[in-house]
Amino acid sequence: MRDPRYDILFEPAKIGPHTAKNRFYQVPHCNGGGYRDPSAAAAMRGIKSEGGWGVIFTEQCEMHHTSEITPFIELRLWEDKDIPQLRKMSEKMKEHGALAGIQLAYSGVNGPNLYTKEVPLAVSAQPIRTFTNDPVQARALDKSDIRDLRRWFVNAAKRSKMAGFDLVCLYGAHGFGIFQHFLSRATNHRTDEYGGSLENRSRFVNEVIADIRDAVGDQIAITLRVSLDETIGDLGFSNAEVRDFVEMNKDLPDLWDLAQGTWEDCSGPSRFKEEAAQHELVKGIHEFTQKPIVGVGRFTSPDVMVKQIKSGVLDFIGCARPSIADPFLPKKVEEGRIEDIRECIGCNICITGDMTMSISRCTQNPTFMEEWRKGWHPEKMNAKGTSDNVLVVGSGPAGLEAARALSERGYDVAIAEAKTEIGGRVARERHLPGLSAWGRVVDYREYQISQKPNVETYFDSPLDAESILEFGFENVCIATGAKWRRDGVSRQHVVPFATDPTMPIFTPDDIMDGKRPSGKVVIYDDDHYYMGGVLAELLAKEGCDVTIITPAAYLSEWTNNTLEQHTIHKRLAEMGVTIVLNRGVSEIAKGHVKSNCSFTDTNVDFGCDAVVMVSSKIENNEVFVDLKARQADWADAGIKSVKIIGDANAPGPIAWATYAGHRYARELDGEDIGDALPFRREITELAID
Ligand code: ADP
Ligand code: SF4
Repeated sequence: MRDPRYDILFEPAKIGPHTAKNRFYQVPHCNGGGYRDPSAAAAMRGIKSEGGWGVIFTEQCEMHHTSEITPFIELRLWEDKDIPQLRKMSEKMKEHGALAGIQLAYSGVNGPNLYTKEVPLAVSAQPIRTFTNDPVQARALDKSDIRDLRRWFVNAAKRSKMAGFDLVCLYGAHGFGIFQHFLSRATNHRTDEYGGSLENRSRFVNEVIADIRDAVGDQIAITLRVSLDETIGDLGFSNAEVRDFVEMNKDLPDLWDLAQGTWEDCSGPSRFKEEAAQHELVKGIHEFTQKPIVGVGRFTSPDVMVKQIKSGVLDFIGCARPSIADPFLPKKVEEGRIEDIRECIGCNICITGDMTMSISRCTQNPTFMEEWRKGWHPEKMNAKGTSDNVLVVGSGPAGLEAARALSERGYDVAIAEAKTEIGGRVARERHLPGLSAWGRVVDYREYQISQKPNVETYFDSPLDAESILEFGFENVCIATGAKWRRDGVSRQHVVPFATDPTMPIFTPDDIMDGKRPSGKVVIYDDDHYYMGGVLAELLAKEGCDVTIITPAAYLSEWTNNTLEQHTIHKRLAEMGVTIVLNRGVSEIAKGHVKSNCSFTDTNVDFGCDAVVMVSSKIENNEVFVDLKARQADWADAGIKSVKIIGDANAPGPIAWATYAGHRYARELDGEDIGDALPFRREITELAID
């Protein structure tokens, strides 16, 4: 069934003492669960094994208590006590024949040790470099510390073996791992034999790999993860120096795992980075080494993957996000089901789980991290319940996912959509600058539904309570979305504020409908996610003189969690958009807006011809409210249940809507659990005093 042109992706390949069954390599990735939710994290990796990945890694695992990156929640291997939870994970990974890998991290100058309260140890004495600029400095490792650190790595490798792993990855990428800190002149200011020349800076990694090889090298493959370019110019570990390093150390690891830059660079969102974005940086490195190379680049297309391998650039296709969006990607390629691949949209919502220390979500795959908590499988739905049919009102991400998943369960589904195309907000937002890949949320579901005989879609069908009662479906799912507010009510203003009627005011919906302001435009962003920045980009491109004002300290503040805030600011600044931070809009007056300081009483006027309000949204819940008011008529109409989901219930990012749609489909006709906790949870074992 497999297309022969993809055969190369299924050729086994050796990594040190082990052989991977194919070229699909799930590189380490966070999930917001880590040591706090070990069974949830283990089950998530187990699903990838079932989905056909040849190599599956953990997220970063802190390998010694003298270095940790709290508040972020990863894994820990500090003592033997940590082995059982890691063994559970490796067993899940290996269940369907994948090799199990663990990424050993010693964070050095990147670890503030907020939890252990140990003094951080780094290659050179420097302030800790974290997302949060913690006011902590690290002490430089002395010679005896370096000897200790080498021993700790050996101990961690031995424990990894006891925990059942086949591969250990030494983390030296993204600015996060101590191996990079030794290799880069930006973090290595030493004057002893570990600093100065590239040979000296390479000494530590050579010593650690030799030590681990002596201890467990016949049973464990050692991979080294470095960034292809530190992206801070010649002072950093540049692409040219990476090439020199690989050439000088050809046979050092059993596999080169070549990531890129900072995490922001490596996990670049689709708004700013294309698939295979690292191609030029990794091209040609194989000429220096015979050891296999894995690289990443948000690969979702098997044709692009084949090209990477055939051209000799990569041996393994590294995937983090594509494996989250579709854990069954390899299996679908193998079974010739390319059109069933649920392609990652590059929105980085998965990363926000780690950044907010909560369990992760995925926009495309609502089952991500719910495999154990809720028993959700990405490819299998629960059996159909007692009723037979569902009317889904609205075809945005919530309604579409509900319809898709309900049809998998075997229900007859009718989708009623007021407009002439499906997709709701996604159908509109995909036309905004940089967001075209988000359209995959609709494309995947549209195709899946088109393959189902039990789903009918009705366009041009704005329904009201009366018509729904007339139809008499057993179950009604209201997924009618939300609209942007025009009155600016959000966080700064909890009630509408003074607005001069002569000032043209636009909402994001107006802009997406094709309406346009002209001349000097103020965008007031009290939403703080992507929309304000995206509209600034659009209007500036179209020739408006744009000023974006936000009460937050950062432009598009919440995008710090999607790792794109810096890039958004850079792009808008380079386009000439005036960025006004820490200021709100207190009044919209004739010809200008009055802008208040977020902290003081100082006001400044910004002259403008129009204002775009990016504030909050109002739920389109009239149909639901009307139906509720007529609950007495439901039984006569044959209606058993009416529920409201997605933005119509409570507006949020697209991932919240697909999750709501999926949950609705899973729970229809289910047992009423009342006030009980709707997921499984693991709690820390209480110590015996
Ligand atoms: P969500 O993110 O919750 O899926 P969206 O706003 O993306 O919400 O999608 C809602 C969809 O519902 C839109 O396509 C809209 O046209 C449609 N819709 C809204 N009200 C009705 C209605 N009364 N009848 C049918 N479709 C509706
Ligand atoms: Fe891709 Fe977005 Fe899912 Fe992350 S959350 S895997 S970026 S679709």
